[in-house]
Amino acid sequence: MPLSPLPDYRDPCGWNRMLPARQPRPPAEGRIRARYAIVGAGYTGLAAARRLHELDPSAAIVVLEGTEIGEGSSGRNSGFANPRDSKIGLSTTQMERAEKLNEFAGEGFAYLLEAMEKGGFSCELERTGRITGAATELGATKIRAMAEGARSHGFAHEFLDAEGMHRLIGSEYYRCGIRTEEGYLLQPAALIRGLADTLPPAIRLFENSPVLGVEAGSPRRLRTAKAEIEADIVILATNAAIKHFGFWRDGLVTIYTYAGITEAMAPEDAARLGIPAWGLLPAHRLGTTVRRIGADRMMVRSLYAYEKPIAPARAREALTGCFHRRYPELRHVTLEHVWGGTTALTMNGSPRWGLLEPGLHGSAGCNGSGLVKGTVLGKRLAEMIVTGDPQEALRAVYGSANRIAPEPFRTIGFHLVSALERRKAGAEM
Ligand SMILES: Cc1cc2nc3c(=O)[nH]c(=O)nc-3n(C[C@H](O)[C@H](O)[C@H](O)COP(=O)(O)OP(=O)(O)OC[C@H]3O[C@@H](n4cnc5c(N)ncnc54)[C@H](O)[C@@H]3O)c2cc1C
Repeated sequence: MPLSPLPDYRDPCGWNRMLPARQPRPPAEGRIRARYAIVGAGYTGLAAARRLHELDPSAAIVVLEGTEIGEGSSGRNSGFANPRDSKIGLSTTQMERAEKLNEFAGEGFAYLLEAMEKGGFSCELERTGRITGAATELGATKIRAMAEGARSHGFAHEFLDAEGMHRLIGSEYYRCGIRTEEGYLLQPAALIRGLADTLPPAIRLFENSPVLGVEAGSPRRLRTAKAEIEADIVILATNAAIKHFGFWRDGLVTIYTYAGITEAMAPEDAARLGIPAWGLLPAHRLGTTVRRIGADRMMVRSLYAYEKPIAPARAREALTGCFHRRYPELRHVTLEHVWGGTTALTMNGSPRWGLLEPGLHGSAGCNGSGLVKGTVLGKRLAEMIVTGDPQEALRAVYGSANRIAPEPFRTIGFHLVSALERRKAGAEM
């Protein structure tokens, strides 16, 4: 079945709408020649472009983005970034792997910070720590195990009972939670705009230029509606949309997930939102993410749809329900922006990464945490291409995505597992 070259984004991205209007760079036109062509200007593609330029400064580099900067999934996410993510409640062997994973995550995060500093842009980055909240008994059991793991490994943390959660986030919805020190929140559309708008002039970025096909050969030829680009080396940094080009269809699932931001609240309503800045992840992976934005808004993220988007009205209704269940006294507050975006899931949580064919590379499968992971995978892909370093350490730590059952078993399996998980998640959703 032919796949669309771009994810079906439908509604505009709320984060992007909250920023001043921005003039996109013009689409690619005519014949263009470059040493490197990168398809996709998300975190992965832009990190790869910046690193290629650092290592090979005289090379011509082009980046082709199918939509506008800020309107892809790198602008549509919840803005949770964590340079040290995977520690609490882990066994000793897992701890060793977690430490190594954290080194790579730290490298990705540092590369983002460096870009912000060099480029002189800001994206409302704030170190808020991270709360994981439980609304069910199953979730509470998980939180207690996390707290036990944190205690035994000596990690700074705070266990919060229902009253503590209420004090922190102003909601009586949660039974308990755990708060750890690491964890940042940011405005994702401001980040991806900043990264794109401060690229060195040697990197040519074209927006609204979906790549329709990549031909084999040396150089390779890429086609858009109005341009033909020749490049010696091509990177497909399109996340799950790489399936459009015929790669990794056996290992990647495209998941649509949804977010909404409230209207600005009156001061007496905003006073109910707890401490000034916080972000909460759910105890169950199908649960709802919630965060405070600035003084007077909230964001909720929930819902998962397999391969196809949900009707916008249904997404709005479901997200509004998620918000009002947590803040019943704010039932008069509506969601001003609602939108969906995509993420690429793999069965075992490992990405697909590396050489696809001579002169053609790819990176996909960030499993919902691509802000930092996509950055390090894009950066390291550029290093592998220019220096020839096979990146054994990175491969060993991240592993490689395994195959998923073919259709129709894949779709049936997905629906069965997600029905089961939804029952388990219950009120975490
Ligand atoms: C609602 C939501 C909440 C999320 N929350 C978080 C979070 O809090 N923290 C976190 O780390 N991650 C989060 N994620 C996941 C995160 O957004 C992704 O992991 C991340 O965007 C992956 O980056 P990427 O550069 O690999 O891919 P993308 O951001 O998807 O970038 C790929 C780009 O390629 C473009 N493209 C695709 N096909 C073509 C083509 N044919 N031609 C040209 N361009 C093309 C796309 O338009 C896109 O801009 C969330 C995702 C969603 C949808």
